[in-house]
Amino acid sequence: MLAIAGMTAGCGISQQQEVQLGAEQAQQVNAQLPIVQDVAINRYLNILGDSLAHVTSRADLDWHFYMVNTNDFNAFALPGGYIYINRGVAERSETLDQFASVLAHEIGHVVLRHSVKQMEQMQGANIGVTVACVLTSVCNSGLAQAGINVAGQAVFAKFSRDDEAEADAAGVDEMVRAGINPNGMPAMFEKLLAERQSRPSSLETWFTDHPLEEQRIQNTRGRISSINPAILRSLTTNTQAFNDFRARVRSLPPPPVATR
Ligand SMILES: [Zn+2]
Repeated sequence: MLAIAGMTAGCGISQQQEVQLGAEQAQQVNAQLPIVQDVAINRYLNILGDSLAHVTSRADLDWHFYMVNTNDFNAFALPGGYIYINRGVAERSETLDQFASVLAHEIGHVVLRHSVKQMEQMQGANIGVTVACVLTSVCNSGLAQAGINVAGQAVFAKFSRDDEAEADAAGVDEMVRAGINPNGMPAMFEKLLAERQSRPSSLETWFTDHPLEEQRIQNTRGRISSINPAILRSLTTNTQAFNDFRARVRSLPPPPVATR
C-alpha cells in the first residue's frame, strides 16, 4: 500500500495515488492470473473498452483492458482504469452490445470511484483487507492462489447493491454515448438468469459479486425507456468485428483447468 502510505484518516485519495495503486495491483494480478496474450483479441478488447471509457468523465485515465483465461462468467475493475473480463463473458455474448455491457458496468465502477471511496472510508492504516476472490475457480487452482491475497492487499473490492445499481446506470449511459445499444445489458442479465436456472455452478462467482435479481433488469430497462426511440434505433447491436473477435476467443486452446 505504498501508494497511499502516509495518507491520514479522512483525506481523499488523489487520482495520482489511485492510478499508482491500480498499476501496482494490476502488475500483481497480471503475474498471477492467466491472462490471454493473443494480440488480435487484446487489440479488439482495448479498442472497444477505450470507446466506452473515452465517453466518460474519466477519459483522461490511461485505461487498460485484459481478458482472463477462464470460462467462469465474471469481470472486475481495479482502481485507476484497469478492467479485467473473463473469456467466459465473450463466449457467452451473442452480440457486441451484450459483451460491451459488462465492460461498461466495470468502467462505471471506476468512473464512480467505488473502490477508492471504500478505501477512503477504511481510513489510513487499516486499509485493504476486504478481499473477495471474484475468480474463485482460478484462484483455487493454485496457479493463482497468491492472487487472492496479493501481499495482503485489497485487490477486489466488494460493492454494495447501490454501487452495482449505479454502475449499471452509468454503463447504460456510456453505451448510448459510445453508439452501442444499451439493451445489451438487460439482455445479458436475462441470459445469466436463464443459465443460473440450468447450470447454477457455472455462475457461482458472478452471483456472489453481482446479486442479480430481476430488479436489475427492470432498472436498466426503465432507464433505457427514457431514451429517445429514434436515438435507440440508431445504435449498434452487433458488428462483424465482434463476431470475428468472439470466434477467435472460442478458437483459443481450452483455459487452464481449475481444481476446486
Ligand atoms: Zn459490479
